[in-house]
Amino acid sequence: MRAAQDILTGTRAAKILVVEDDPVAAALMRKVLEHQGLRTDHAKTGVEALEMHSAHAYRLVISDWMMPEMTGVELCREIRQHGGVYTYFVLCSSKGERADRVEAFDAGVDDFLVKPVDRDELHARLIVARRILAMEDNLQRQFGELGRANEKVKAMNASLLLASKRFEELFNGLPVPCFTFDRDGLIHEWNRAAQAKFNIQPRQALQRPVWDVLKDSEKPFWTRDVVERVFGGSMPPSVDWSYRAAEGDLRYFACSLFCLEDNEGGPLGAISANLDITERELAERRIHLQMQQINEFAVKLEEQKRALVQANERLQHLAVTDGLTGLWNHRRFHEELEKRMVEHRVTGRPLSLMLVDIDHFKSFNDSFGHQSGDDLLRQFARVLKDQSRGTDFPARYGGEEFAMILNGAKEDDAIETAERFRLAIQNEPWNSRAVTASFGLVTLDNSTENPRELIERADQALYNAKTAGRNRVVHYSSMEPMQERRTANNAKPKAA
Ligand code: GH3
Ligand code: MG
Ligand code: MG
Repeated sequence: MRAAQDILTGTRAAKILVVEDDPVAAALMRKVLEHQGLRTDHAKTGVEALEMHSAHAYRLVISDWMMPEMTGVELCREIRQHGGVYTYFVLCSSKGERADRVEAFDAGVDDFLVKPVDRDELHARLIVARRILAMEDNLQRQFGELGRANEKVKAMNASLLLASKRFEELFNGLPVPCFTFDRDGLIHEWNRAAQAKFNIQPRQALQRPVWDVLKDSEKPFWTRDVVERVFGGSMPPSVDWSYRAAEGDLRYFACSLFCLEDNEGGPLGAISANLDITERELAERRIHLQMQQINEFAVKLEEQKRALVQANERLQHLAVTDGLTGLWNHRRFHEELEKRMVEHRVTGRPLSLMLVDIDHFKSFNDSFGHQSGDDLLRQFARVLKDQSRGTDFPARYGGEEFAMILNGAKEDDAIETAERFRLAIQNEPWNSRAVTASFGLVTLDNSTENPRELIERADQALYNAKTAGRNRVVHYSSMEPMQERRTANNAKPKAA
């Protein structure tokens, strides 16, 4: 009893509509129902029932079958066409034949009651009605939920479609060549810039391994190993690579790599964005090459500078040395002598000058030839040089005449040194014949005015050595006053 009331009072039309043209039967039915705690409305005809139903949408209608104007079956058919919330329709009749019931079921009748209505039977039928209506409500609710869920799925689908379309547009419209690939290296997206830059159509790239698609004709960068390193996390986020398609120019790219993650944070795929840095790279290489050339040029320049310095040094050396003997030349000798005399005046350091002349050199030339004479001059110079000390300054004065500044040498030292030279020359194993030389010495004192005077005195001493028989040393200080004069023309003693 309570359950029937719940389901019926819990709906929008809480009342039961009783349709009965017989007032007595109607009153009886309403009484039985109201006795069970249910509220009722009454319609005397099918038409009236329809009007009331359209106003109240009754959940349960108990109708007489046989009525004037409209039968209960016709009423049921009308209500069913009306649609809306399900109405449980019970038909009351004294009729009980099978064919009639089939017609009633076809019209949409849910249950039958035989008149006169038995109270207990009515109660049982109301329990069934309640169950059917509850199921119907449940079904409706589920249907509603299903509908809403369906709407939601549709909306999500639409937004997903929009998102993927936007991603596609964005990805495609990127001005940098981009593509995506999965763990197997298979390419899934290939944008317009990639198409243009690599000259590879999407159909040639999609669903193919990246190392097959970007097959460099010389040095392949995209390999299975690179893909494994990208997903293994051991690849730097940015890496430079170059690519030369068959019969194409070499292009350089700066590649940025991003890993796409699934909901659990696992790697789903990778995006590779490749900026064309060819111009920059080529410019850098050009600069590098130019820097290299500049460097090489600088090295060459340095070499040339060194060679120039050496040449200058050689030139300077040539300017001050004698070409034949390698000793200091006449000009350099004069320079040095002046310098030393100045130094002597300042410091008082002793200074002697030695002039040496080979004896009878003319006859040597005449006997053995000029060439042998040169050789002799060279050998003679070498002996002088070997015998000299660091402080001595040996020079070729001219012809077969030599000069040596003996720095720090007083008269005795000078004589001793000259003797040493004389003996060395005398004892030298000469090639063709014995060679000797004569030595003229002078030691600087206050009576000597200038270098010219000093040289003249040494020359006079030398002249004395010659006239005294050659192969000897004469110091200016030990000369006889009468022997001090000689001139260029008459002073020369005759060769022995
Ligand atoms: P003295 O003992 O008196 O000095 O006699 P000398 O023959 O040595 O002297 P003289 O002045 O008569 O002769 C010097 C010679 O030296 C004459 C010249 O041809 C030769 N002479 C000068 N310079 C060179 C040279 O560079 N090479 C050669 N081979 N001979 C030279
Ligand atoms: Mg001479
Ligand atoms: Mg001579």
